[in-house]
Amino acid sequence: MKELRKVLIANRGEIAVRIIRACRELGIQSVAVYSDADAGAPHVRAADEAVHIGPAPASQSYLRGDHLIEVAKQVGADAIHPGYGFLSEREWFAKAVEDAGLIWIGPPASAIAAMGSKTAARTLAIKAGTPVVPGTTEALKDAAEAKKLAQEFGLPVLLKAAAGGGGKGMRVVRDLSEIEGALGSAQREAKNAFGDDAVYIEKYIEGPRHVEIQVLADQHGNCISLGERECSIQRRHQKMIEEAPSVAVSPELRAKMGAAAVAAAKAAGYVNAGTCEFLLDKHGNFYFLEMNTRIQVEHPVTELVMGIDLVQWQLRIARGETLPFLETPKPNGWAIECRITSEDPANGFLPSTGRITHLQLPAGPGVRWDGGITTGSVVGLNYDPMLAKLIVHAPTRELAIARMERALRELVIHGVETSREFHLRMMADEDYRTSNVTIQWLEAKLPELL
Ligand code: ADP
Repeated sequence: MKELRKVLIANRGEIAVRIIRACRELGIQSVAVYSDADAGAPHVRAADEAVHIGPAPASQSYLRGDHLIEVAKQVGADAIHPGYGFLSEREWFAKAVEDAGLIWIGPPASAIAAMGSKTAARTLAIKAGTPVVPGTTEALKDAAEAKKLAQEFGLPVLLKAAAGGGGKGMRVVRDLSEIEGALGSAQREAKNAFGDDAVYIEKYIEGPRHVEIQVLADQHGNCISLGERECSIQRRHQKMIEEAPSVAVSPELRAKMGAAAVAAAKAAGYVNAGTCEFLLDKHGNFYFLEMNTRIQVEHPVTELVMGIDLVQWQLRIARGETLPFLETPKPNGWAIECRITSEDPANGFLPSTGRITHLQLPAGPGVRWDGGITTGSVVGLNYDPMLAKLIVHAPTRELAIARMERALRELVIHGVETSREFHLRMMADEDYRTSNVTIQWLEAKLPELL
């Protein structure tokens, strides 16, 4: 086993705090880094050491990979944990960390690369026998080819940027006459956003759910799935509420999706924690979309129902430990997570900024708060608006909803507008309460909800 005595956390906010907690429970020293905007932030206070790394813009602080590696060496850290976002899925950074003789707490650079583009991931999944949405794995040459393929797969189809992310470079085509214009605009958008105009085509799945499978793989060839997360409640491709398990997933389907996710992970030579995203249609067919090669925002709901600390296992796997079990546990009860963001639901979810003047956290049975704020924190526009996650765990979904409603009522945040009121309305919504939802449901519902 390798020694892991001190970990530098190349991140901020709630995930940095989360990683520091995992380190502390394992007796590992933690080093926080912070920009000008984060001096005195909770992650800085929580860590054993903290190093200032530059001005507020992420490009001059949290995204300076080479500098972060230098800092890690200076403080005598033996590993870097990237969290999510920022540098977490940059192949070059994973490689540079290892080249510097440090342990990378994440998947091998080669696995990040293998899952790095949508077309590469599709090719790999197909090879592994993991079902993907019917479509191509090569960039489209022209509109004539797109038309021919659209007829073959059947309308509607989706044109998608190979390098895409965040829903950019995507166009739904419902009529053949729209294809030429849609292809041109998807290619232009892809070129602008990613510097790569490769666009491919796949069938558009109507009214699916977004269901993802957590996997965990050690360095000794063991890989397990840890059940699903239901993430259909999305606004502009951003998840708002996640839960585990999903009402749409039976034990049989869980086993099938789990096996498909493990096959894809193994084909990529995956090690550490990762997530395979799937679309699940009304008939129980599931299609692999992509693999996120990092710890995810919504990992706590899996931790609660599977009874495992995923972040601790990221660290333990990185130092060479073997997975604690090789069978997927049966989910225990129900967990729900609400993302508490500094966005104003009453005002089109406009980002809200300011100083948090008062903060009162919910507590009591089955309540978990993963946060990166405190009274006095200044919320600006430099970083993601997610301030914290409120997570509950209860024996049944109905009780989890009641518990979330109770916890949301206990939560008081003064100084910035937040998504709290939105979540309260969601908990009372009949469609949400019966989980009668798809990935399009929230956008259609919003005008009525707010
Ligand atoms: P991104 O990297 O932008 O998140 P995804 O491939 O995950 O790209 O697609 C973004 C969202 O678009 C998905 O979460 C899903 O909601 C929707 N989507 C993607 N592919 C399809 C498809 N073939 N049919 C229907 N919806 C899709």
